[in-house]
Amino acid sequence: MKIISSIKEMQRISDELRLQSKKIAVVPTMGYLHEGHLSLMKIAKINSDVLVTTIFVNPTQFGPNEDFNTYPRDIESDKELAGSIGTDILFIPTREEMYPSDFLTYIEIEKITNVLEGKSRPTHFRGVTTVVAKLFNITKPNIAVFGQKDAQQAIVIQQMVKNLNFDIEILIAPIVRESDGLAMSSRNTYLSEAERKESVALYQSLQLAKKLIEDGEWNCSLIISEMKKLISTKPSAKIDYISIADAETLEELPVLQDGKRMLISLAVRFGTTRLIDNIIITK
Ligand code: AMP
Repeated sequence: MKIISSIKEMQRISDELRLQSKKIAVVPTMGYLHEGHLSLMKIAKINSDVLVTTIFVNPTQFGPNEDFNTYPRDIESDKELAGSIGTDILFIPTREEMYPSDFLTYIEIEKITNVLEGKSRPTHFRGVTTVVAKLFNITKPNIAVFGQKDAQQAIVIQQMVKNLNFDIEILIAPIVRESDGLAMSSRNTYLSEAERKESVALYQSLQLAKKLIEDGEWNCSLIISEMKKLISTKPSAKIDYISIADAETLEELPVLQDGKRMLISLAVRFGTTRLIDNIIITK
């Protein structure tokens, strides 16, 4: 596995690979890799000739009061894990390499970034789309793999790729969960033992919603209020939002719609740790 931190060198290698007609796949991450990330790499690997994994804790996607400084980092373990899945190139740029002091350009996707995560984290998606566009121009992939764990991010990136005509195929990988259902996340490491036990409420509430829907419920506010009830039994839980929305437009739905893909998503704080989760359903 080659480790690269220079943008110029990464671009040069990608150019060479493309000249050799190699199919490049990229998996952008913020590191502190876990099985969720590795599942994306496995999908990228089987769909390409060269797998580029990127590790960059992107400052522009963190709000001023968010966890940029404390975000977990473990580069040595990341190198080992990325290598074990067959990453060919690990791109780990520095902050100065990505955002030199004269940096002035941001990409903003309208409307679908103003709801859900974007409502709670107003500058988040502008940071995500900017860094992903940069990583696309740096690694020059044919394919990029993102996780369903960040459902809105996946939708926003697909919109950006479509609108800005990036010639890149986007694959969305399913959510990888712990054995009790908690979606894997680098941020799970922040949870105390008690919070970790209570955090299973996210998944349980999504399963409850699924069950209510299977049993014939159509009313979204009723489903949401049952999810709230379940989460409220956990003392450390504080709900940020629970939403049932059209999985393409992210518009909130008062009632379920026949034949539509719908996104049930939520963000809940356990102590100071904010966790998100979601499922897609079709009626
Ligand atoms: P992050 O390092 O948290 O920015 O995540 C990098 C990529 O991994 C994103 O596309 C995430 O959606 C994806 N990802 C993170 N956790 C999971 C998970 N539990 N299952 C599937 N994909 C995930």
